[in-house]
Amino acid sequence: MGADGRAGAPSSPRGLGLATRAVHVAREGAVLGPRGERPATAALHQTANYVYANAEAAAGAAAGEAFLYTRHGNPTTDAFARAVAELEGAEGGLAFASGMAAVSTALFASARGGEILAAEGIYGGTTDLLANVSPLFGVRARSVPAWDLAAVASAIAPDTKVLLVETLSNPLLRVPDLPELGKLARARGLTFIVDSTFTTPCLVLPLALGADLVVHSVSKYLSGHGDVIGGVVVGAAAALEPLRKLRTQLGGTMDPFAAWLALRGLRTLPLRLARQCESAARLAAMLETLPGVARVHHPSLPDHPDHALARAQLGAAGAMITLQLADGAAARRFYDRVRVFARAASLGEIVSLVTHPASFSHGTLPAAERARLGIGEGLLRLSVGIEDVADLEADLRQALA
Ligand code: PLP
Repeated sequence: MGADGRAGAPSSPRGLGLATRAVHVAREGAVLGPRGERPATAALHQTANYVYANAEAAAGAAAGEAFLYTRHGNPTTDAFARAVAELEGAEGGLAFASGMAAVSTALFASARGGEILAAEGIYGGTTDLLANVSPLFGVRARSVPAWDLAAVASAIAPDTKVLLVETLSNPLLRVPDLPELGKLARARGLTFIVDSTFTTPCLVLPLALGADLVVHSVSKYLSGHGDVIGGVVVGAAAALEPLRKLRTQLGGTMDPFAAWLALRGLRTLPLRLARQCESAARLAAMLETLPGVARVHHPSLPDHPDHALARAQLGAAGAMITLQLADGAAARRFYDRVRVFARAASLGEIVSLVTHPASFSHGTLPAAERARLGIGEGLLRLSVGIEDVADLEADLRQALA
């Protein structure tokens, strides 16, 4: 999984690979002393306010020419957003207090009183937002299976303004065809928003494939250590401007300390994700051979419906695996028996996690909708971490024995 030759990878301005850029991005703080010396890591500006030298400087800040108040902007949160933008090949970025703050701000700033068309099988929190919160603000939303291009094309209505997809659907890991959807969005005048939380810039660069805005939950792979809640949106500077205003108005700005932790985590993203994807592909292949496993969903598997597209579009098939066991009782037994996999709701951190989508990520959906989407009681989602893969293998085997 090198930085070069990946689908959608623009050539780096300095010809450097992703792992090199991740380590070096936003590496130093500001000048500290008389010889121009700097701290070797980004500075943490844990402040709410900024102090001005005089009335003229204060007026400049009020006019948006300088830092005013951390809800509007902060050097540490800006450094983190710029770092993600650099890795995504974007002009700019904005950091948010959570992935949901990033998703909701991107959607509401782009909907412009029109309709949002969202992929089926996206994160349950986003589905809940679109079904139950958007209507309160006069924004309507519909969903469509994003892997069916004809269905997407015919679902676009005259007042559709936004197309939202996730690079890997949740939890069944379907792969939308980003270049084709990008063309469709452009032709129909839609803002194309891609949530790349499951893939990160290590696996795909959606802006190079036609996305207008790329969103991440920073709480997952980008920070990587399970100690941060955050979000980020990257894109062209002009496309981000309405989001910047709305972020200040809604108040979902990232805290500087969260940004500092996320910046530290970002440094090892390519290393972590390479290991996680490699282990996941190996575990997925092994799980298919085990008794009691009805179905394994992972795009690396030849029987995955989007196997060929995943190979063409993604640098690797990701580090999430979804597992179909016989029923809810079998899933509960597995859940209770794992020893290395931690029982937790989230994903994308260095520790391997197991979750039950019907109760957690998709727990807010009505049962009938969960059934329609194939999210039954016997389904479990694994987030593969960086442990020794032999230990993960042994854990899964004993939990299924
Ligand atoms: N987008 C995706 C794909 C997610 O999986 C999640 C959370 O699980 C979010 C957005 C929301 O992120 P956060 O939990 O940081 O608000």
